[in-house]
Amino acid sequence: MRTCGDCTLCCQVLDIPELAKPAGRLCVHANAGCRIYPDRPTPCRTFTCGWLATPALGEAWRPDIAGFLVRDERDQGYLCIDVDPARPEAWRAQPYLAQIKAWSRMVHDRTGCLLVYTGREVTVVFPEADIALGPVGPDPRLIIGYLKGADGRRPFVRLLDGDRMIQEWLGQSGDAKVGR
Ligand code: SF4
Ligand code: SF4
Repeated sequence: MRTCGDCTLCCQVLDIPELAKPAGRLCVHANAGCRIYPDRPTPCRTFTCGWLATPALGEAWRPDIAGFLVRDERDQGYLCIDVDPARPEAWRAQPYLAQIKAWSRMVHDRTGCLLVYTGREVTVVFPEADIALGPVGPDPRLIIGYLKGADGRRPFVRLLDGDRMIQEWLGQSGDAKVGR
């Protein structure tokens, strides 16, 4: 049975509306543990990161070592990576990136998607490209897929406000930084 030990990364990277705590900012109650542990809000009580829940993820995936945590929201179609803002490139190191790309293929095959959050900054990870959206709201409404063209298929991301598209990003195979 795993325990959190000295790790407190979820107290930094997660959005906790009950505490008006934005993603990426360390909770004011965090101090060598939780100062309000008996009274901590429900999201803190119920949250389990991917490393804690998945014995197959080795010690290198412990969030305070890796520099990010894995958040399973696949019931809503998302697998999320929440990155320590002090180490924004941590998820791009190996062996992490190869596994994250493999997960992105798996979730895309099931019409989901893999999102990397660094504070409010979101990157959508496709198997063949990453599309950086920049800062978005806490619960973005996204359409994610592929467009077929003469030169093959290209990943796209659309940000919606209700049914209205307010921004679109188009990726190219192997192109890690694209947008318009
Ligand atoms: S990120 Fe995971 S291991 Fe770290 S404190 Fe949160 S639940 Fe525990
Ligand atoms: S209330 Fe406690 S458990 Fe919840 S984010 Fe703050 S320090 Fe962490």
